[in-house]
Amino acid sequence: RASSELKKERTVVRARSLEIGGKAIGVIAGPCSVESEEQIVSLAIKLKALGATGLRGGAYKPRTSPYSFQGHKVEGLKMLATARAETGLAIVTEVMAPEHVPVVAEYADVLQIGARNMQNYQLLTAVGDSGKPAFLKRGMSATMDEFLLAAEYILDRGNDQVILCERGVRTFEEHTRFTLPLASVPYLQAKSHLPVVVDPSHGTGKAPLVPPMARAAIAAGADGLMVEVHDDPEHAMSDGAQTITPEAFARMMAECRRVAEAV
Ligand code: PEP
Ligand code: MN
Repeated sequence: RASSELKKERTVVRARSLEIGGKAIGVIAGPCSVESEEQIVSLAIKLKALGATGLRGGAYKPRTSPYSFQGHKVEGLKMLATARAETGLAIVTEVMAPEHVPVVAEYADVLQIGARNMQNYQLLTAVGDSGKPAFLKRGMSATMDEFLLAAEYILDRGNDQVILCERGVRTFEEHTRFTLPLASVPYLQAKSHLPVVVDPSHGTGKAPLVPPMARAAIAAGADGLMVEVHDDPEHAMSDGAQTITPEAFARMMAECRRVAEAV
């Protein structure tokens, strides 16, 4: 069960370099999409030096439009594995379908379930059965109860390595891509023993808003962050508008460290 009433001690999720829910804040950074081996390896080296503890990058991309880039798929997974071999960073990448769980689990350290698939119960069950840690993103119109019940589909398979990720919800507001409710952090931490990560990139959709909301997430007590970073966001193959540069990521990390010390 996800409830903190049934399990008192907090769950710590561990995968290689990544620890979420322990003392330190875990930071999973990387591009929205894996674009090339050169891109992901050189970026991973920079991100590790700047304090990232996990590497993200999509190989299977859930795109709103069928005409948008859909990801490099297995080739993208291999590029991520090369970046891991170079840096030791744990790989967090999305799996979109139950039948892809074996191949994604072969290369990745943590299996991401995207917002659009939060209630894909066959996928949740397959990820639970994989034995790999799961990174579960909140559906864009899911309630907290639905989110926690989705996590329970994974836990119910005997897999307690589940990270909850608040990535913003759909509201009437259009100045940001989604609306990022940071009250979810203390709410979920009180309700559940699972660690909570915030994704200010998808949560806002706008790069200048990412560092301030990352700081706010840490102030609210988040166990970690997921942030989209790219060397040249303007030319990113997906989500460029919400993607920050390594330079901005370096400043964000310094600011977040100061906030973490203060709370
Ligand atoms: C992503 O992390 O790139 C992604 C597609 O996120 P979400 O499922 O939250 O939209
Ligand atoms: Mn993205």
